[in-house]
Amino acid sequence: MAGIYLHIPFCKRACHYCNFHFSTSLGLKNDFLTALLKEIELQQQYLAGETVETIYFGGGTPSLLNNEELQTILEALARHFTIDPTAEITFEANPDDINEATLLQWKQVGINRLSIGVQSFFEEDLQWMNRAHTAQQAFGNLQLALQHFSNLTIDLIYGTPTLSDERWQHNVQQAVELGIPHLSCYALTVEPKTALDTMIRKHQVSNVQPDDQARQFLLLMDWAEAAGYEHYEISNFALPGHRSRHNSSYWQGKKYLGLGPSSHSFNGQGRQWNIANNALYIQSLKQGTVPFEVEILTPDQRLNEYIMTSLRTMEGLSLDHVQQLSGDKISQALRRNSHKYIQQELLHEKDGKLILTKQGKLFADGIAGDLFV
Ligand code: SF4
Repeated sequence: MAGIYLHIPFCKRACHYCNFHFSTSLGLKNDFLTALLKEIELQQQYLAGETVETIYFGGGTPSLLNNEELQTILEALARHFTIDPTAEITFEANPDDINEATLLQWKQVGINRLSIGVQSFFEEDLQWMNRAHTAQQAFGNLQLALQHFSNLTIDLIYGTPTLSDERWQHNVQQAVELGIPHLSCYALTVEPKTALDTMIRKHQVSNVQPDDQARQFLLLMDWAEAAGYEHYEISNFALPGHRSRHNSSYWQGKKYLGLGPSSHSFNGQGRQWNIANNALYIQSLKQGTVPFEVEILTPDQRLNEYIMTSLRTMEGLSLDHVQQLSGDKISQALRRNSHKYIQQELLHEKDGKLILTKQGKLFADGIAGDLFV
């Protein structure tokens, strides 16, 4: 079983915090689609022998694709890959692209899960982020989407200087009251070279406060738990039966193929990533070559990836699995190294698995990094 990710590298406008690969000029959209179809054809052997159980349209903004374009991409995937008839097909949509007609079209071509970039239900937050949608669209179009898609996730951002704890509670409560079955919640990070980074350096906007972010993350965990959500990965919360199959497959180390500029792929042995430049991606595919770099993972790198991803999940890090991957010596060293975190109540051990506590989740990446071999 495997997954396919498609990166649609266009956005209406640049959110101030974003460091994903995208262009706000749609001039190359047709050429990009031609290149993407060529890449689908050229990469058909990457998942040879595997059935595709998840497809994920991410970006960028996939909801900038029209129905015909979306259908053409899905038909090309069906021609070149074995797709499970019950495959989860997720489509990222921004609230301003949602209406009755687009929802019906997405459903009709086979999309069965929507991921909506709500971020906040407050106008001031959305303007601060430079989002393309209004608070009214966030709420109204989300309600509309729920009438057509029961399998739906929204993104919410916390830790912005404009977001008080009261507003944060309102955002989470709104999602809970609407019965949104899956939430992806991210602390705002200030990535280098983003507009936000520049504005903070120029003192045009306030910087984010790590203490506020930590507090809002702890509050989120309490609220989500009380509302019956499983906190199944650091940033992801699901009502029972609504985990993302696509993202879960990343964390379980399954194979996946990334298509489109800047997308990443993993085939069990190594990773590869496409060039993050629309014009060069198109040019290379015109000449029949997928422009990617590749890295074959060493056994230590594979173990470290397992440590990083497994610790972020509620199932935790299996010491048996580490022992199978790397032998007794390394698994014993890891257990010894984890003791200090268990004593500090940042980790606990259950049935041979190391699991982060709520406090530990605040330091997930640092703890994982310290446990690396
Ligand atoms: S819509 Fe998404 S990908 Fe596009 S700029 Fe905003 S955050 Fe980035």
